[in-house]
Amino acid sequence: MSPKPVISDRYAAARIYFGCVMGMLLIESLLHLPQYLMVALNKRKPYVKAPVQHNGFRVFMHKISTLPSPFPFLTAHNYPMFLRFLVFASLNILFGYNRTRFTADYTLYGWLTLSNGGLTLLLAARGTNLLSAVLRIPTPLLLTYHRWCGMASFVHATVHLGYTASHNARTGQLSRVVNNDVYRAGIIAWSALALVFLTSLRPIRRWCWELFYYPHYLFLVFAVGAMYHANHAKEFFLPGLTLWFIDRVWRLRHFSKKKAVITHFDGSVTKLTVNGYSPKGAAQMAWVQFPGVSNVVWHPFTMVARPGNGFTFAIRGLGGYAKKVQKLGASDSSEKSSGSVIPIRIDGPHGVGGIEWGHHTVTVLVAGGIGITPGISIASSIIFQATNPSSPFSRAEAPARHIYLLWILRSLSHASWFTNELSHLSALANSSNGKVTFDITIHYTSADTGWGQDCTHDLAAAERSLTGSQPSGYAGPGAVIQGRPDILAWFNQIRDQRPHMDVAVNLCGPRTLINSARKAATKMSWSGGLFKVQEEVFEL
Ligand SMILES: Cc1cc2nc3c(=O)[nH]c(=O)nc-3n(C[C@H](O)[C@H](O)[C@H](O)COP(=O)(O)OP(=O)(O)OC[C@H]3O[C@@H](n4cnc5c(N)ncnc54)[C@H](O)[C@@H]3O)c2cc1C
Repeated sequence: MSPKPVISDRYAAARIYFGCVMGMLLIESLLHLPQYLMVALNKRKPYVKAPVQHNGFRVFMHKISTLPSPFPFLTAHNYPMFLRFLVFASLNILFGYNRTRFTADYTLYGWLTLSNGGLTLLLAARGTNLLSAVLRIPTPLLLTYHRWCGMASFVHATVHLGYTASHNARTGQLSRVVNNDVYRAGIIAWSALALVFLTSLRPIRRWCWELFYYPHYLFLVFAVGAMYHANHAKEFFLPGLTLWFIDRVWRLRHFSKKKAVITHFDGSVTKLTVNGYSPKGAAQMAWVQFPGVSNVVWHPFTMVARPGNGFTFAIRGLGGYAKKVQKLGASDSSEKSSGSVIPIRIDGPHGVGGIEWGHHTVTVLVAGGIGITPGISIASSIIFQATNPSSPFSRAEAPARHIYLLWILRSLSHASWFTNELSHLSALANSSNGKVTFDITIHYTSADTGWGQDCTHDLAAAERSLTGSQPSGYAGPGAVIQGRPDILAWFNQIRDQRPHMDVAVNLCGPRTLINSARKAATKMSWSGGLFKVQEEVFEL
């Protein structure tokens, strides 16, 4: 007996599938929108809940959702992502379950290509995506759905083409169909989609961003080809195409041209300081274009607010483009050019995260190397609020906030990237009459074999940090310790100091560091306080 499709009307099946995935996105929104609305309706006043007491089931679910996933290649490293992937894959299998006896049966996969293609487009706009701006779905999550829908679209399209082509080959109709415009449009659409798919694979994205980025525009060929090939395709594609077009026009009209002052640091870091505008939110990014390097490409960098009115980008010269940024402003390419002023174009701030920063009593920031930028941005935002007399966060009735920063560096000289900011924030926190505290711990690993391998702490250095005299090379605040940190012990100490408080945790750095911190956050979550993690790996 041949399998029967779940819904016999294939067009209806495609629309219901589309609705199911939109339903998943609405559920995602329900996980984040209430927290955002609570903050917004409260006129962004602090709504901290403390002391907290969670029941065992809540703690158990939280622990499960915080642990790194055993399937990192599929699911962005945690169990909720794995669950999402299971639901998404099951929907595709359920709606794709079908007999393949008649040629009309193959069209089901064509329909599912259209609905997945339409969803991929809806989730594509990188800056002003309505789903993140209005529904508050975190941007990295939307990107994950975008990838899954794109992948599903390619799989269904390939099955649709494969069955149709083999049927036509068997019945000797191949030459007839390739001369038919509608079929040709379908083949062109599939070829464009295949190129987009192949160049989106992670190794290509990592190896050569441009080889991933520019072929992505072939989605226009895919969309036009599919709309010519199939009736009703417009219904699926036009919403996403319209949003994408609006996003493009918006960005063309709204990017701003600014002047930035360059400062160079040891360890190939260049800071660009821009005056006259401060990002409102914490840990937001902007797309940046340096006309001195290219008038075409945009790269994402975190905006770090400065006191007063301005912000900084700190850019590490690891890849080809970022290395060229290090040479900007110099008359000859070998010359360092601190103090030069260069033109830059900025499209931002963008980015919706999963945590409303500042609305937890305790904030924990764990960063590796240049991954400090979101951490500094979050700390600045909380400390500026708590010390700004016109902010509700500085009022007597507002609860005190406690920020803990753990920054792991290869070399202590890299601490100079943010010594000024750390000193300034620390001084502000010290003058806040206890409204905000800022605890800084810096580990540098240059004398050991690197992150991820065994190494003992340098007790002499730890001792120096406890007695207050910093090792030479760093003149900022906080404890400085040589060697790898014991992240679990560090989290444990925070839990002991701040019992019955939920903790907002930002992690940014290498995957091994993030996974260790996730495990520590899981272990330390208890009925008297959950460690809620948001991570950033600086990858799209
Ligand atoms: C949200 C976010 C915030 C970031 N904040 C900072 C920061 O504050 N400081 C910092 O030094 N770095 C930051 N990065 C990383 C930075 O964007 C990349 O290191 C930089 O774009 C690499 O470019 P490259 O060509 O020099 O390096 P390559 O070695 O060519 O690329 C390294 C990787 O960067 C990514 N990448 C390359 N080009 C682009 C592009 N045009 N758009 C998006 N990704 C690209 C690719 O994944 C690639 O594999 C951030 C990244 C993201 C996603």
